Amino acid sequence: MANLSLLRCRECGREFEPIALHVCDFCFGPLEVAYDYEALSKKVSRASIEAGPRSMWRYQDLLPVDDAHPVDLGAGFTPLVKADRLAAHLGLRELWIKNDTVNPTGSFKDRVVSVALTKARQLGFKVAACASTGNLANSVAAHAAKAGMESIVLIPSNLEAAKIMMTAVYGGTLVAVDGTYDDVNRLCAELTSEHPSWAFVNVNVRSYYAEGSKTLAFEVAEQLGWRVPDHVVVPIASGSQLTKIKKGFTELGLTGLVDEVDHVRISGAQAAGCSPVATAFKEHTEEIRPVKPDTIAKSLAIGNPADGYYALGVINATGGGCGSVTDEEILEGIQLLARTEGIFAETAGGVTIASLCQLVANGTINPDETVVAMITGHGLKTVESLTGRVGPSTTIAPTLESFDAHLEVEGDLIRATKEPR
Ligand SMILES: *Cc1c(COP(=O)(O)O)cnc(C)c1O
Ligand SMILES: [Zn+2]
Repeated sequence: MANLSLLRCRECGREFEPIALHVCDFCFGPLEVAYDYEALSKKVSRASIEAGPRSMWRYQDLLPVDDAHPVDLGAGFTPLVKADRLAAHLGLRELWIKNDTVNPTGSFKDRVVSVALTKARQLGFKVAACASTGNLANSVAAHAAKAGMESIVLIPSNLEAAKIMMTAVYGGTLVAVDGTYDDVNRLCAELTSEHPSWAFVNVNVRSYYAEGSKTLAFEVAEQLGWRVPDHVVVPIASGSQLTKIKKGFTELGLTGLVDEVDHVRISGAQAAGCSPVATAFKEHTEEIRPVKPDTIAKSLAIGNPADGYYALGVINATGGGCGSVTDEEILEGIQLLARTEGIFAETAGGVTIASLCQLVANGTINPDETVVAMITGHGLKTVESLTGRVGPSTTIAPTLESFDAHLEVEGDLIRATKEPR
């Protein structure tokens, strides 16, 4: 069996062959990829990983596909940046930013799509499809182009201009739907039954797709010198990434790659305008009540998160918390990260940074912990969110006179004489 993996129901534990199946036909529970960790621990070592490519595919032994030529645009092995200036601002001892903005299509979704389409191609699919809040659309269209597959991508019609263009340019079929993401996703579930020959990355091959997120945990641990951090802050849309980051750390323990993995605490990050998981966490209930999203963080705007229940479970089990931040705080978070660390994140990154601030302020994050914040999408994708907040300091004529009239220079300090317009 490819990489010793099979599918297992998260509810009743029944096992299935690794095909395009995402729910248990016995109890309708979601299926998750399971591995023979004993066998894997003999096969994989730090040295075998370190000898691999400088991409997420260095962890292929821990992924559910065995393919010498995966569908790969170069996702992963992104920088883990020591964020000393932001740490000082927050009063933290050791803070790291996982900079996933630098992935091929500008978001962490390249990790999950690279796995999903590699698996889909192996299973014989010729068409890649998805419902998306934007970043998945970009990534599916790009990876399908690279693989020579057809793509059909469905998005809510109100997405940011960059996310629409960055999908359409790859030449697949892009369908804008008048409705929320949850409406689009429901339509996709119907289309999956109508078109069983299409690989819907977030539906029928979702179990494989989800495994791609584990590489975030693997990379963080390897980049910290094979050490699992104390606390990780993860943005939540469907909740898949958060649950798989935990699974990734656990697997590092199960395969003997890292000795101590159980101390890691995982906190979620949501926008107040779409915070079903944060709300359930705050109200000490296991029930995730669906909401109608209203936030500038469109990439996280899933009102009825498929893995919300499991994400909440991980947060509670590990002793984490869950941020819920306003649109104003999201924009301040984007600017704070840019100003202190030189990293420009999209609105989802603003959610992570603002939640990090909130979790430090309310004592969930201890200042002595080694903290990692997941910055999952590039700022160029959502530039319109900053309209009116940042821009030129001043506009001048191309003369020295005009420069002197509009700018005060004292030593190395340069200021516009008037407030920016
Ligand atoms: C999709 C996405 C996430 C998280 O997605 P999950 O559905 O929770 O796995 C986080 N950040 C960005 C930028 C995304 O596009
Ligand atoms: Zn089951």
